[in-house]
Amino acid sequence: MKLRSTLLLLCLIFSSVLFSSQLSLAVEEEENPEAIISRFQQYLRINTAQPSPDYAEAADFILAQAKSLSLESQTLEFVNGKPLVLLKWPGSDPSLASILLNSHTDVVPAEPEKWTHPPFSAHLDSRGNVYARGSQDMKCVGLQYLEAIRRLKASGFRPIRSVYLSFVPDEEIGGHGGAEKFAESDVFQRLNVEIVLDEVLEWGMKYETKSGKKSELVGLASPSENYRAFHAERCPWWLVIKAIGAPGHGAKLYDNTAMENLLKSIESVRKFRASQFDLVKAGLKAEGEVVSVNMAFLKAGTPSPTGFVMNLQPSEAEAGFDIRIPPTADPDALERRIAEEWAPASRNMTFEFKQKHSSLDKSGKPLITATDSSNPWWNLLEEAVKKANGKLGKPEIFPASTDARYFRDLGLPAIGFSPMANTPILLHDHNEFLNKDEYLKGIEVYESIIKAYASYIQHARRDGSKDEL
Ligand SMILES: [Zn+2]
Repeated sequence: MKLRSTLLLLCLIFSSVLFSSQLSLAVEEEENPEAIISRFQQYLRINTAQPSPDYAEAADFILAQAKSLSLESQTLEFVNGKPLVLLKWPGSDPSLASILLNSHTDVVPAEPEKWTHPPFSAHLDSRGNVYARGSQDMKCVGLQYLEAIRRLKASGFRPIRSVYLSFVPDEEIGGHGGAEKFAESDVFQRLNVEIVLDEVLEWGMKYETKSGKKSELVGLASPSENYRAFHAERCPWWLVIKAIGAPGHGAKLYDNTAMENLLKSIESVRKFRASQFDLVKAGLKAEGEVVSVNMAFLKAGTPSPTGFVMNLQPSEAEAGFDIRIPPTADPDALERRIAEEWAPASRNMTFEFKQKHSSLDKSGKPLITATDSSNPWWNLLEEAVKKANGKLGKPEIFPASTDARYFRDLGLPAIGFSPMANTPILLHDHNEFLNKDEYLKGIEVYESIIKAYASYIQHARRDGSKDEL
């Protein structure tokens, strides 16, 4: 009997040693760079380009990854056929607020004939560049979150705060069927999120200096080494101004025609645009800190079978503008300018907004995530990036919009951050790529950030000590 039980014990020990060594071998295999890049390529090969993204396949892929990491998962569908995958790595103290790592699964369309390698081939070239639509914006980030968790799990790290990952649809078409509905949902409320990380897009601008020299501003702090982080973004106002006037013969000169009135306004808008742009060109302000205005359309004329009636001055003319306002600008002053200069009633003009996002959150505060001592998450991010041998630039205002605004709307701190340095800006451009080393480095950066965030417990205590002072 004794011998039998000893044998059984030995057998058990042996098989568990075998099992654990097989397991660690499997873990090692999953962690080697080739396997990591191959998973990145798999995700990139799923064609999630708007307007008809293959969301089902993307969701299946993410769910399979989650399963391999033993993360809890659920699929939410706020809009039919547009799954939002929500994953959870439970923390040991459920009473603490959680962390949300957000990424979008859709990408903008690509014109394959203009690419060196097909946009959904995820071709890896000899320099280590992975070419694919979404390699920068932002499938890299979504998967880097997961890879960072894979490493943390393998190292035995256990989070104190719960970490959630949301893979949302439709960011590239405004986020209304994705992050917006998610942020407003009861499901989101129940997550008790305290900090959101989302994407940052590298943003450059080209312009000609007064002497005609072409200049390029890329990553205002430093084009190469720094990671950029955004703590706010400009709000879009889509403005349509309309002029009306008496129609008349094309040969007649008279005042107050619709076209003349509209042109006066356009001239005024152009002057304002130039004044803002000058501040950027002079290096006095970053692009995200000024109000931008760009004309989106002009609509006028009386159509004829061969084009337009040429001997008739039309009675109506319209122009549309995409205006972006930083949360630091005064929205009332701008609206006054529109009413008094750009579309004055005295010139028979009216205006309407096709879209007008407030630069204030739901409680009336400007939509800016604090980066001072009132927001410990900023400091934690800075420290964590440093620990991973990265450098974080100064907080910036993102010139366009991302899903982060829906979370800031709720008054939550949201930081836009994608660990991509030394990378040319190619999001939404042809031949978008990310170098594999930059991708792998980004995983280490997220590993450091997630570790710092998920271990952070001093928040409540720090607030308490403030009171005592
Ligand atoms: Zn994006």
